[in-house]
Amino acid sequence: MKVFISADIEGVSGVVHGEHTMREGREHDYARMLMTKEVNACVLGAVEAGADRIVVNDSHGTMRNIYHEQLHKKAELILGTPKKLAMMEGISSDFDAALFVGYHTKMGSEGILNHTFNGKVIRSIELNGIELGEFGLNALVAGHFNVPVVFVSGCNLVAEEATALVPSIHQAIVKQTVNRTTALNTHPVLARELIKENTKTALAARSEISPYRIKPPYIVKMTFLNTGQADAVDILPYVKKGGPLEISFICTDILECYQLIRSSIMIAGSIS
Ligand SMILES: [Zn+2]
Repeated sequence: MKVFISADIEGVSGVVHGEHTMREGREHDYARMLMTKEVNACVLGAVEAGADRIVVNDSHGTMRNIYHEQLHKKAELILGTPKKLAMMEGISSDFDAALFVGYHTKMGSEGILNHTFNGKVIRSIELNGIELGEFGLNALVAGHFNVPVVFVSGCNLVAEEATALVPSIHQAIVKQTVNRTTALNTHPVLARELIKENTKTALAARSEISPYRIKPPYIVKMTFLNTGQADAVDILPYVKKGGPLEISFICTDILECYQLIRSSIMIAGSIS
């Protein structure tokens, strides 16, 4: 069994603020340690479930957060940027299951630290009329390779967002959202136990969980936080301006959609 883990930080128990999630934050190193230990709990669950290959993709910010030495030696770790598939770099049809650790809700929803890829750039991303956050867009990339997302950890609301798209997904809810920067957190040790146990259950049930897919063609609409960002993305070929803050494009391949979304965010991110 081959297992792919995409690891973010905002959904980790104890992480509630930009000072935890940003490189320059005073508490960032502490949050990186919490993240590393939650990811390792997922790795340990996968090892106990019989995985013979485990690839972890560090998927937050600089994508250089996880303390490598603290991971179980069976896990291989993708660190660094840029990556063509960003939070899903390394996924392929060789994998039997994908697991998302430390995930958060989409921009504008109630979940703790909600955002979609870049909180200073994106207001919303819609694909064929469905508003998707990181969970949904990353699950579609896994679905392209016929890989089911069997597990998600994070706050109670990201668990709801994930279940709405993948009804039989397994979860570890490690905190309850109070508001965008406040949560009621499970003790880190218990959070890790929950992640490990639910990883094992999820992997045992992987054949019952369908890969997440939406039928092509794909009409993608992206809404930005300022008009200059939409103007900058409008320079790309294939892109149409749909309003002062909105661009859209059409693709037939979900990987092309994902790469265009990610490139647009990088371009828009250069405009302040
Ligand atoms: Zn993140």
